[in-house]
Amino acid sequence: HKINVAIDGPAGAGKSTIARLVSKELGYVYIDTGAMYRAVTLKAMEKQIPPNDELKIVELTKQLDIELIATESGQKVIVNGIDLTESIRSNEINKQVSKFAGISKLREILVEKQQQLASSKGVVMDGRDIATHVLPNAEVKIFLTASVEERASRRYKEMLEKTPELTITLEQLKNDISLRDQMDLERTASPLKMAEDAIKVDSTNMTIVEVVQTIKELCIK
Ligand code: C5P
Repeated sequence: HKINVAIDGPAGAGKSTIARLVSKELGYVYIDTGAMYRAVTLKAMEKQIPPNDELKIVELTKQLDIELIATESGQKVIVNGIDLTESIRSNEINKQVSKFAGISKLREILVEKQQQLASSKGVVMDGRDIATHVLPNAEVKIFLTASVEERASRRYKEMLEKTPELTITLEQLKNDISLRDQMDLERTASPLKMAEDAIKVDSTNMTIVEVVQTIKELCIK
């Protein structure tokens, strides 16, 4: 029978890579909740709505049809028919997204969407509050972490592969990641927190294959 798997953790811990691979192995659907917060942030920035204008943000979010589509080359993020897969990953969005994600009313709308997507089980969902808030009954709960140095250096390598002439330094990247963690940890609306019944997986010294294997074993036992 199918179960739901929640994977939470700080920025750059490898949640999306791991969640995608685990979902593939299990034949499950992968849902990247961070992509939803990123999509709202991008649209709000386009419309120049600041994060303190909660009413307008909520209104905007209600007008967005956010689709997460699994393809061979990874997940596509389509918002009101437009492919925003690449643009929601910019440095600017990285810096702004946690400010928008702190808005409780916005979270309520997205959480409801997430719960609907997981209602028939067979879902691997990653985020910050999946085990604690979105899917408290998920059968497997993983808290995936790694040291901030390791997370920054992984992200840096990934960015170098895409853009050989990077304008950001490893040190700046580490600062950005730490700041985002801090905002995610300190917000009042469902902050980043390990659920009491979650299993902590520290991937600092683990390969992707090892992490996937560890989680898969927890899912099939
Ligand atoms: O996972 P990702 O890094 O793409 O998430 C981007 C941001 O969205 C996080 O830093 C966090 O502020 C927010 N987020 C959240 N709750 C989630 C998923 C993401 O607040 N479930």
